[in-house]
Amino acid sequence: MPMITGPISNCAQRFALSVGIATALVLSGCASGVRIDTSYTSENQDSRALFLVLHYTVGNFQSALGMLTKPSNRAVSSHYLVRDDPVITYRLVDENNRAWHAGPSFWKGHTHLNASSIGIEIVNPGAVKDAEGKLRFSAFSEAQIDAVVALCQDIVKRHKIKPENIVGHADIAPGRKQDPGPMFPWKRLAQAGLIAWPDALKVADKIPAYQAHLPDATWFQDKLTDYGFNTSRSGEFDAMTLETIGAFQMRYRPDRFDGLPDAQTAALLEVVNSPDGMVLTNSTPATQPYTSRW
Ligand SMILES: [Zn+2]
Repeated sequence: MPMITGPISNCAQRFALSVGIATALVLSGCASGVRIDTSYTSENQDSRALFLVLHYTVGNFQSALGMLTKPSNRAVSSHYLVRDDPVITYRLVDENNRAWHAGPSFWKGHTHLNASSIGIEIVNPGAVKDAEGKLRFSAFSEAQIDAVVALCQDIVKRHKIKPENIVGHADIAPGRKQDPGPMFPWKRLAQAGLIAWPDALKVADKIPAYQAHLPDATWFQDKLTDYGFNTSRSGEFDAMTLETIGAFQMRYRPDRFDGLPDAQTAALLEVVNSPDGMVLTNSTPATQPYTSRW
């Protein structure tokens, strides 16, 4: 083997020096750059996408498209944008690349979820003032939700995203974000087998005890943290705790999401954290208990 004394200028020269002229002749066409031998594939790997994060756009399709695709001081993007009228699913960022949709975020011990998630923006105006000046959230159309469910199923299947890692922006940034909001039908995702849902009988069973005695703020904060939220640990029902309770209610009890602690919310929090409290709908069997794992 000759000594290497100068810069190795091209691929063929590198190869000749290391394994001999005969092999180098085989690779003589590699002027384009590095050659990779892909004969072997490790079985020890998974997708970088661990989370699926759902958003609403707060704005119509055209304004959302501009914001999600053009540079600006506060540049944002998402992998997918689901238009409302007509319902069309656009891919704006390749799934292998990072989209900028989550911002400062936390879920189940993970932070900076842009790096490990796929983001879906759903065109919806969010909370809009009605004639009396009251903020009202806007409904999603059936067809748009059908498209979101189908997209989620496709992504989850390919990346093997766990049910407990399909979240809303409000879940990973409570107090800062509310989307996809209380009108987003999380139960539809449960019916499609995408997420687990609290066992209704178990929830009903727990309510009377919490009506008799509502737990204190520390209990609520412990349960919210166990579930996956990054919330206050002050021991008080402070603003952050109420915002986090509100985010939890939007998902599981969307008809009242005032953030106030109550017996039904306590029962839901106990059940979602119980080993046999969640039910996952699948084709076979139709439903089965589901225990999430961190
Ligand atoms: Zn969002």
